[in-house]
Amino acid sequence: RQPTAIITGASSGVGLQAARALVQKGWHVVMACRDIPKTETAAARIGIAKDGYTIIHLDLASLDSVRKFVSDFRSTGKQLDALVCNAAVYMPLLKEPMYSPDGYELSVATNHLGHFLLCNLLLQDLKNSVVKEPRLVILGTVTANPKELGGKIPIPAPPDLGDLKGMEAGFKAPIAMINGGKFKPGKAYKDSKLCNVLTMRELHRRFHETSGITFSSMYPGCVAETALFRNSYPLFQKIFPWFQKNITKGYVTEELAGDRLAEIVADPQYNKSGSYWSWGNRQKPDRQSFEQEMSNEALDNNKAKKLWDLSAKLVGMS
Ligand code: NDP
Repeated sequence: RQPTAIITGASSGVGLQAARALVQKGWHVVMACRDIPKTETAAARIGIAKDGYTIIHLDLASLDSVRKFVSDFRSTGKQLDALVCNAAVYMPLLKEPMYSPDGYELSVATNHLGHFLLCNLLLQDLKNSVVKEPRLVILGTVTANPKELGGKIPIPAPPDLGDLKGMEAGFKAPIAMINGGKFKPGKAYKDSKLCNVLTMRELHRRFHETSGITFSSMYPGCVAETALFRNSYPLFQKIFPWFQKNITKGYVTEELAGDRLAEIVADPQYNKSGSYWSWGNRQKPDRQSFEQEMSNEALDNNKAKKLWDLSAKLVGMS
């Protein structure tokens, strides 16, 4: 049987290239995207085989849309063998917070809460998979990990969920930050990516032994030319790829990042649940992956539990 993976945000960047790489490995990919014509054009542009994918609408910022996506996926009759939570927004120049249709700050709503609900709803589908080790992969990032050089840059602030006071108070306007503090859009992104890693670890703790599902996170390298940076200053968008290529040597192409993500989904050596994979920040040809140490906050089990309980409330699960 041909295995099936769902990839969120497969209309561009890392997700699009991971879809291409998984189809090349013989998988069927469900591209879960908010813009269907854009996804169709992108898949055709990079030559993904037409029978290798299905596109289903998903707007992660809307909890209703997440629920509808799950029911649309189930009505295809396909079994689910891997779920890849890849989509994200990064809006570092916002002066005021934007809110999702459910009333939550938009980057945390999209990157964390939408994926949190999606993972929970699709857990049962992954449990029903007949492959030996179904997988659930959530993308992390270096800037959310202060144990890595890229995570030490305090602009605008390091990730910090504090004691989740903002979430505890309902996370609706005027609240815009998980810790209840002043709105800082770049930090909201880092916080949401930290939530992604905490969610992966809590999924592992709760469900790995009983379900056999492998839960993992990964950092693909600095994919400096993706649309993720479209909301940054134009000058930054010009200089950033050059800086990453020539100074930090962190730059990787979208193709290589997609190949790496597809390996985490499909290759036998990535079957260790609870891991965070990286190829480091200084790229060299044939660079090997390794298990990256996570930040103290990402390793905080009490925080992971508290984030789980509060997120479950915010998405209407409890
Ligand atoms: P892109 O902007 O190219 O891709 C992001 C994807 O997310 C797009 O397909 C976008 O769709 C989708 N998306 C955004 N909002 C929503 C939504 N509400 N509902 C559904 N889909 C949505 O960025 P990247 O490929 O760079 O990012 C992919 C992942 O990699 C992210 O999780 C990011 O944090 C992570 N990452 C990226 C790094 C980099 O250097 N680029 C480094 C480390 C991690 P649309 O086309 O409709 O906007």
